[in-house]
Amino acid sequence: MARINSHYRKLMAGYLFPEIGRRVSRFQRQNPGKKIHRLGIGNTTEPLTPAVLAGLREGVDRLSKAETYTGYGDEQGDEDLRLALTRFYASRGISLDPGEVFISDGAKSDAANIQSIFSADSQVAVQDPAYPVYVDTNVIAGRSGAYDAASGNFPGFVYMACTRENNFVPEPPAGEVDLIYLCSPNNPTGAVATHRELKRFVDYARERRAVLIFDAAYAEFISDPGLPRSIYEVDGAKECAIEINSFSKTAGFTGVRLGFTVVPKALVVAGSEPEEVHRLWLRRQTTFFNGASNIAQRGGLAALSREGLEECARLVGYYMENARIISEGIASAGLAFYGGVNAPYLWVKTPGEMPSWDFFDKLLEEAQVVGTPGSGFGPSGEGYIRLSAFGHRGDIEEAVESIRTNLKL
Ligand SMILES: *Cc1c(COP(=O)(O)O)cnc(C)c1O
Repeated sequence: MARINSHYRKLMAGYLFPEIGRRVSRFQRQNPGKKIHRLGIGNTTEPLTPAVLAGLREGVDRLSKAETYTGYGDEQGDEDLRLALTRFYASRGISLDPGEVFISDGAKSDAANIQSIFSADSQVAVQDPAYPVYVDTNVIAGRSGAYDAASGNFPGFVYMACTRENNFVPEPPAGEVDLIYLCSPNNPTGAVATHRELKRFVDYARERRAVLIFDAAYAEFISDPGLPRSIYEVDGAKECAIEINSFSKTAGFTGVRLGFTVVPKALVVAGSEPEEVHRLWLRRQTTFFNGASNIAQRGGLAALSREGLEECARLVGYYMENARIISEGIASAGLAFYGGVNAPYLWVKTPGEMPSWDFFDKLLEEAQVVGTPGSGFGPSGEGYIRLSAFGHRGDIEEAVESIRTNLKL
């Protein structure tokens, strides 16, 4: 008798974005003439850059001739690309062995799958609010109880509250936990952890043999040279941290699909043999995954070339100029917000302690602007709304203008 994995029934997923969709459709039906401005979604909008396109085309061309055709590649990823990534890290003062880099079809898959190499009874800590993948995949793996609507929590997880008081970067948990998910620059709050703040987590993890799962998908959006763009900028992190990254936001690969994860050979957990955690991730990937697209990997290699890096920096600069425009506009409209400086997200405080969904409706009805209710990312997101800087410049300007002229505060 087959039965489903009933942990799936605990999920709250599929609630946030469908509910936004329903409210926007209803508004559009009732106000057919009005133009809706979307600042809600973390999806890239600008075209791929010339060097990257040339790399992708080269990847396609290589498939057209028997001499250069390739089928399955190395499951861990094309060696040239892994070498290019180690050079990229080396340019930041971090030395990695190409064997420590695993290429994937995106950071989301890796962020979802990484928990599977750790014990089923691991105690998990997440930032609150958080990118939903960390929570949901651990719910599916059975590491939580049933969702508690009153608190907005899954019992069993440790929620590290990110609030105004701690500048949206939490302290390590007071008690004992095994896996800690960190995302910096943060989606949704736009906060970036300092070196000192990350060091506290590294110290905690080394003392307690915990593992940090560090999502650096927005690292390239950091412009402040004093802020860390990799967890490995902190001494000792190779013993306790896995870093997950992506070409999605930096190179516009949201639809192309390419990511990578670093599992250092020095990483140890309680009772593990030397390099065993690294070997387990290799085993996991070679068992469940047949490698990233060879075309996408050629594109990734091009994105790491000198021209590619310059072009991607300009692409990031474009979105960060959007962030600046949104920041300036909403500040002049009288809204308080955080982030938007070293991250493409703005974490906007709702006026007068208004609940996130009420402010979502107000913003939609008065200014026809769609944000993402902060409460959808965790209980500490209540009282905030996330605005995204991904969008065409003209659309961003129109949205900001509409907030300035139409939102009644
Ligand atoms: C967008 C995003 C990613 C990237 O996921 P991909 O699967 O590589 O597209 C990873 N982490 C966070 C927090 C993100 O917002």
